[in-house]
Amino acid sequence: MEKIKRKAYGKINLSLDVIGKRDNGYHEVEMVMQRVSLHDTVTIKKVASGITLNSNNKELPLNEGNIAYQAAALMIAHFHLLEGVEITIDKNIPVAAGMAGGSTDAAAVLLGMNELFALQASEETLAKLALTLGADVPFCLSEKTALAQGIGEILTPLTPLCDCSILISKPNFGVSTKWVYESFDATTKIKHPDTKSLIEAINKEDLQKIAEQMENVLEAVTAKKYPEITELNKLMKTKGALGSMMTGSGPTVFGLFAKEEEASQAKNMIAGKFPENANFIVKPL
Ligand code: ATP
Repeated sequence: MEKIKRKAYGKINLSLDVIGKRDNGYHEVEMVMQRVSLHDTVTIKKVASGITLNSNNKELPLNEGNIAYQAAALMIAHFHLLEGVEITIDKNIPVAAGMAGGSTDAAAVLLGMNELFALQASEETLAKLALTLGADVPFCLSEKTALAQGIGEILTPLTPLCDCSILISKPNFGVSTKWVYESFDATTKIKHPDTKSLIEAINKEDLQKIAEQMENVLEAVTAKKYPEITELNKLMKTKGALGSMMTGSGPTVFGLFAKEEEASQAKNMIAGKFPENANFIVKPL
């Protein structure tokens, strides 16, 4: 095999809680994460030597600054590979959006190179390598819904979110995850999610209850600086969303709809009010 193509799916948070902070500055989190059908396509081709990166998204770094590049460098070093790779990222997931766009590309490179070079690395080895790249990368190695704890690397598989239509709206600005967590640290009034009840609702496939239990402690922080987040939440709910929330550190907002038609109407309304937003209707994986 000389070339491999992988779909790298994005994620949304159905909950995000921060439950502590370690001495090294890392935040202890508890979050329910769900993969969605919106995906990048990552193609990896064997070449004689080195790493080259191409992408349709001209804003992305095409060198060591790209986490997919770092993933390839890590695989080459760890497995003492004698050849190199040419990676092409066809980007659809909005960047700096709270959808793990970079992490999913990195996971696709780890999985793709493992297959392409017939390395037969264990899941455990790949998970260890993934964690050195970023806290969300281990989660992206599998397509399962999961409860992520620790700094995001302790994963417990959950029942996938039941069938629904998810409207995603990404405002025309990115948010720095570092800034959001720093601002969160200075916050005192925090509404924590009831993660246990959310998981119960997911197990029962009770979409209404799931929507009611969704909570993200970072939302208040990001929404204070960017009021559009609150407006998007309101718009989605007016148009029939059972619940809506910011994913990750934002600024992307998603709504859960029982009917695709309602999601579609909400999408049109948001496109009229915020013409610069990138909007997608997706499905849970
Ligand atoms: P998370 O949900 O894991 O916090 P995110 O969706 O908020 O991630 P990304 O889309 O991963 O954020 O992008 C964060 C930063 O990483 C951007 O500034 C971007 O330039 C950089 N980056 C590096 N490699 C990639 C990549 N392959 N895809 C997207 N962004 C990348």
